Amino acid sequence: MNAVERRRFACPTLGAPMATGDGLLVRLSPLRDGLDGAAGAMLAEAARRYGSGEFELTRRGNLQVRGFDASGALAFAAAAKRLAGQRPGPLPLALEPPGDGLSGGRLAALRDELAARLAAFEAPLAAKCSVLFERRGDWGFAGLAADLRLRLDGDRLSLGIDGDAASACWFSASGAPVSLCDAAMVVLERLAGAGRHARGGALRSDRTLAARLEVLGFRPSLAPASAPAVVPGSLRRGTLVVGCPLGALPSARFEALAALCLHHGLRCWPLPGRLLLLAGEALGGPCTDAIRDELSRLGMVLDQRDPRLRIEACRGRPGCASAGFDTRGLAERLVQQLAALDPDGRVELHLSGCTKGCARSRPATICLVGGEREGALGVVLDGRADGVRQAWLNDDAECVAAALPALLARS
Ligand code: SF4
Repeated sequence: MNAVERRRFACPTLGAPMATGDGLLVRLSPLRDGLDGAAGAMLAEAARRYGSGEFELTRRGNLQVRGFDASGALAFAAAAKRLAGQRPGPLPLALEPPGDGLSGGRLAALRDELAARLAAFEAPLAAKCSVLFERRGDWGFAGLAADLRLRLDGDRLSLGIDGDAASACWFSASGAPVSLCDAAMVVLERLAGAGRHARGGALRSDRTLAARLEVLGFRPSLAPASAPAVVPGSLRRGTLVVGCPLGALPSARFEALAALCLHHGLRCWPLPGRLLLLAGEALGGPCTDAIRDELSRLGMVLDQRDPRLRIEACRGRPGCASAGFDTRGLAERLVQQLAALDPDGRVELHLSGCTKGCARSRPATICLVGGEREGALGVVLDGRADGVRQAWLNDDAECVAAALPALLARS
């Protein structure tokens, strides 16, 4: 392994960590079978021994850990491969928890088939080119943008180019000899031919591609109907969705979650939107309320209206060397105030340690950015961390809290 190599198809992986302000960052590929309590506890121990110990849940539903040196990243990767069913190299994103049970393992099998074909694919693709498998966009996948999305809904196979489920340019086919992976490879070869930085948008009006897909049985179609988005607290068919404030799972919380899973016989999967899916027979039974209470005590979110879901903060100080302030400490200070000032939940707050904006790429109602002027935060209203500063605030938490009502009134 080249420890800090960036692969062609993806962001950081176990085999290709990324250098950050606080050591190497590794990202696990989607967990095909989830994590049970015992594996979770051992993974937490490996993360603490070799890295920072803190897990982060990304917006796209990946687990990642920071703070490794090169040898620590290697040791953690070995543990994760053993404990979390990790395979080498980049994988297309797919999730098939047992609570779904509707695609009979076909999604994950298709994902693995495409991964094997991509491993032998030599043409360069853009570093962040993303491929997503879904059934009906379940578990929040419908809202994730991808260069290529592959949908398997009963006999109907669909392929969406560039966007989330609603905005992608779709082609569909029905019936057996049609191969979704063959069609996916045609799209990816065409994308590679458009240049090493080309993204899915380059193919939206590509007539040559449309003709090639038609030969394979795929014709232009309307966007297929998607499953409703999942929200924290939703309980169905032996599954429970929980939110993770700021996407951070410090080692103590991760270990406590693993112990809870072990005690109740649950498995756990990360979901898009910094959510976790817990699945097991105990959910829906007499222990359900006790499980919910334990999760609340751990600081997990079980209510969609929880104000912590409307604040995003990057790692900040002291974890990231680029950070100008303690983003998470400020987030905790502002939670209750935000809930009181904004009972309708219309405001989203982004606290970014520097202009890179790791926690959020979309605009937020209020974005406070550090790292440019000592002791000060730049204010961006309805924008991103790299947006135009409309004001500057003293970075003291009390000063920010005092300024918040006025910022909300301006937003
Ligand atoms: S946005 Fe935050 S986590 Fe990302 S580099 Fe800047 S300070 Fe570090």
